[in-house]
Amino acid sequence: MKRLVKIDWRTPNVQRWLLVVVLGVLVVTLLGTLIYLAGRLEADQLQRQVEAEIEDVGKDLRTHLAGDVKALQAGMLRRPTLSQWQHEADVFLAQQREILRLEWLDENLHRKAQMDTPYRRSLGDDEAQIEALKEMTQACNRARQVGAAAYSPSYFVPQEDGLGTEMMAMCWPLKEHGHLVGFLVARYGLADILADLTARKLARTEQLALTDADGTRLAVSGTAQRGVRLFSAQKTLELPGNTMVLHLDSWQGTPDFVPNFLTALVTLLSLALVGVMVMLVRDTRRRLSAERELGEALAFRKAMEDSLVTGLRARDLQGQITYVNPAFCEMVGFTVEELRTQINTPPYWPDHLVAEYRQVQQQRISTQGSAREGFEAVFKRKSGEQFPVLVVEAPLINAAGEQTGWMSAVLDLSEKRRIEELSRATQERLQATARLATVGEMASLLSHELNQPLAAISSYANGSINLLKAGLMTDETAADVAGDLQMALSRIAEQSERAGRVIKSVNDFVRRRKQQREQVGAQELLAAILPLVNLQARKLSVRVVTELSPQLPKVICDRTMVEQVLLNLARNAMQAMEEIPVAQRILKIQARRIEIFDADAPTKTQLVWRVVDQGLGISEEVAERLFTPFFTTKSEGMGLGLSLCRTVAEQHGGSLEFEQNSPQGSVFIFTLPLAPT
Ligand code: ADP
Repeated sequence: MKRLVKIDWRTPNVQRWLLVVVLGVLVVTLLGTLIYLAGRLEADQLQRQVEAEIEDVGKDLRTHLAGDVKALQAGMLRRPTLSQWQHEADVFLAQQREILRLEWLDENLHRKAQMDTPYRRSLGDDEAQIEALKEMTQACNRARQVGAAAYSPSYFVPQEDGLGTEMMAMCWPLKEHGHLVGFLVARYGLADILADLTARKLARTEQLALTDADGTRLAVSGTAQRGVRLFSAQKTLELPGNTMVLHLDSWQGTPDFVPNFLTALVTLLSLALVGVMVMLVRDTRRRLSAERELGEALAFRKAMEDSLVTGLRARDLQGQITYVNPAFCEMVGFTVEELRTQINTPPYWPDHLVAEYRQVQQQRISTQGSAREGFEAVFKRKSGEQFPVLVVEAPLINAAGEQTGWMSAVLDLSEKRRIEELSRATQERLQATARLATVGEMASLLSHELNQPLAAISSYANGSINLLKAGLMTDETAADVAGDLQMALSRIAEQSERAGRVIKSVNDFVRRRKQQREQVGAQELLAAILPLVNLQARKLSVRVVTELSPQLPKVICDRTMVEQVLLNLARNAMQAMEEIPVAQRILKIQARRIEIFDADAPTKTQLVWRVVDQGLGISEEVAERLFTPFFTTKSEGMGLGLSLCRTVAEQHGGSLEFEQNSPQGSVFIFTLPLAPT
């Protein structure tokens, strides 16, 4: 089956080809037109040349004929005798080859004398040629009338060789004292006129002809050589009494491939044009292929940018955003336009951090060209939600090697933080559960262990009471009853001892964990807890400020326990600030050294930790039970934190107190004594 190929004219490829074809056609048409015009110009020139030539020939012919008349006239002015005239005519005829016969007639047209050209055989007698006679008579009658030379129409004179010759007679009236005394007649051979007059002028490829007014050819001169192109011109030759037409045919060969300079120039220019066009087409093709490659590279880059989950952001040196990828827009929730049209402050900067970020940006601008850098920051989504990000920035260098801005990759850390927080909470819960489980286990063990001795004590006590109640204490039974009571009481004592042993064993179990004390610096303790504190601080949008006095001494302590205390205090402080505005959420952890002077005892040095928050503070009601185990105001709290913290502080010979912070919040003060130096 034949399938029709459908061409879509709208595709750029087809349009391009169409353009090339149209251009080609235009150039060819232009070339054709130019060559045609150049040819035309040449033809016109040739034609004009032929016309000028025939004009010349016509003029020459007239001048010549007039010259003949004058010469003849001059001869007659000397009033020659017949023989003189014959002699002069003979000389004249030898000079003028076109005149075949000269005759002197009287006023009645009777011949007085006649001379023939020496170049021809006899032309025969006029009397025999009625035609010749008639034409001559006509010319002479006309000459008589006008009193000047007159010509006869042409006539044919047959010759002996079977050919003949076309002739024309000129008649000039001879006058003496104003009276007509006769005529001079010159008979011209038309072919001889042409031959004599034009032989010198005609080119090899030209043919000159004389025709009648009605077009009959009378005489021809020159070759009838045929060329390809014929240029013709004609001119009417008006003589008194005769009108003939001069024809000039000029044969030209095929025009040369390069007819003339103009055509050569045009052709050369056209060739150059075609060359340029070919080069242009080639160049266009190269450009197109480069364009296609560029397009593919762009598409590849775009696909890459679009598929990235990392946000990309480019900023110029003034901090103005020049580019963001879809992932970045999705991350912050603003559109490309919203991000690009902002002038000063990016909409994703949290309000309370604008000043800080601007300062960082100023620093970046002033340290142009530094290498790739990564830092953590907090951004704000369009919904107002804040989230942590990791920003890696590198200088943006243009093709000329100059820095034009910064390119940043932005990673949303909120999910990572959420998972970290989740695992931290899980860990904490697991520990708490484990601790609870141990406590529970211990409690059930205790109750089980204590149950038996307590039950035994109870039953011995009840038995003793019953014995006393029965009133059986008579003299004779007294000894027995006393014996029983003694036995019961000794059993009670035995069981209490047993219960005491159980409790001691539990105590031993609890104390079995050896306290591992070591020398630790305040800085080290802080460094150990800061990552965990920061983790939660980010989640609760709290800013953590640490203020440590220089050169703090080391303390000897159970490092894990002390860290746990600091962690607990920091966590309580951060949780206490959940209700206040973000800008005010500042947690301060301070450490300093204080000396306590006592007159009786050696000077005591203490390391004092202060954990300060701006929270809602602690009401008196809460304050009373703050350090009581299992007291909590939180739905998920256990209430063990502060009581354990105080135990740890006391175990280390220190203390844990709290006071109100001004203007709001609480300060927890945790002191640790330093080993006396
Ligand atoms: P939990 O934190 O599990 O509730 P804690 O013993 O650590 O147990 O704290 C007991 C209670 O003391 C808390 O529920 C809270 O009401 C109160 N509290 C502790 N620290 C602070 C603080 N910095 N500001 C206000 N209240 C506090």
